[in-house]
Amino acid sequence: MALVTLKYVLENARKNKYAVGSFNFFGLENLRGIVKAASENKSPVIAMASTGAVKVMGEKVVVVAAEKLSEEYGVDIVLHLDHCKDDLEMLKRCVDNGFTSVMIDASAYDYEENVRQTRLAVEYASRTGCSVEGEIGHIGGVEDEIVVSECEALFTVPEDAARFVADTGVDALAVAVGTVHGFYKLPPKLDFDRIKKIHELTPVPLVLHGGTGVPDDDFRKAIPLGVLKINVGTELKVNGYFNVMKDFTPQVKNSDPRKVALKIVDKCSEIVTEKINVFGSADRL
Ligand SMILES: [Zn+2]
Repeated sequence: MALVTLKYVLENARKNKYAVGSFNFFGLENLRGIVKAASENKSPVIAMASTGAVKVMGEKVVVVAAEKLSEEYGVDIVLHLDHCKDDLEMLKRCVDNGFTSVMIDASAYDYEENVRQTRLAVEYASRTGCSVEGEIGHIGGVEDEIVVSECEALFTVPEDAARFVADTGVDALAVAVGTVHGFYKLPPKLDFDRIKKIHELTPVPLVLHGGTGVPDDDFRKAIPLGVLKINVGTELKVNGYFNVMKDFTPQVKNSDPRKVALKIVDKCSEIVTEKINVFGSADRL
């Protein structure tokens, strides 16, 4: 068992009409939870680390941990770097050390600069066969406090998406279609017409960020429209991590960190299993 590329995993998802969950990890406990859920459900998964998480853990350690957990649980997984902004050196280190997928996010820049940075990432990643995800349009965060009309102004324009994929050669494309990062104040309104149009014009799999709090039926509706990678981070961070720790800290008798770690493994595995079932990726290995 080994680390496999995003391109390979999403090609299978496209053929068999399901989406693959991409789950953030921040430490060994929740990485273990993600891989455990993949193994128990015979599902492909993408384990992803933000640049912040890579800085804390170190890219070499992350790669070895992911490889060894893949062997231990007997399941292939994708190791992905999430939202790499303005840090091409980190992206290069991740590629060199064995990540099988990286996201370059230059979506805050204008079209030309986004293309330029994304192309650099694609060229570098091609040395090892590492997959690359890019972003066009801009996916906001709840913390940005931007009003809906401003958010819509940043939605992905289908024609730009097609041009961007042709100009950069990315393997997957993150699109801004109504989801945001973090928890939603109001239920998100996905722009399904836009997703459909982007899918018609664009040959590569689409990526939906901000999966926490999106209703299950919206996921089910988006998958046949070309959304093959769905990112879930906040739910793991809050319910899979902080809430578990919160339950432990006040009670001295329960303050054993090993007990906390085991709970985190189980809670993260439970959250990932739930998503695997919604995304239709169980029993695909
Ligand atoms: Zn994201």
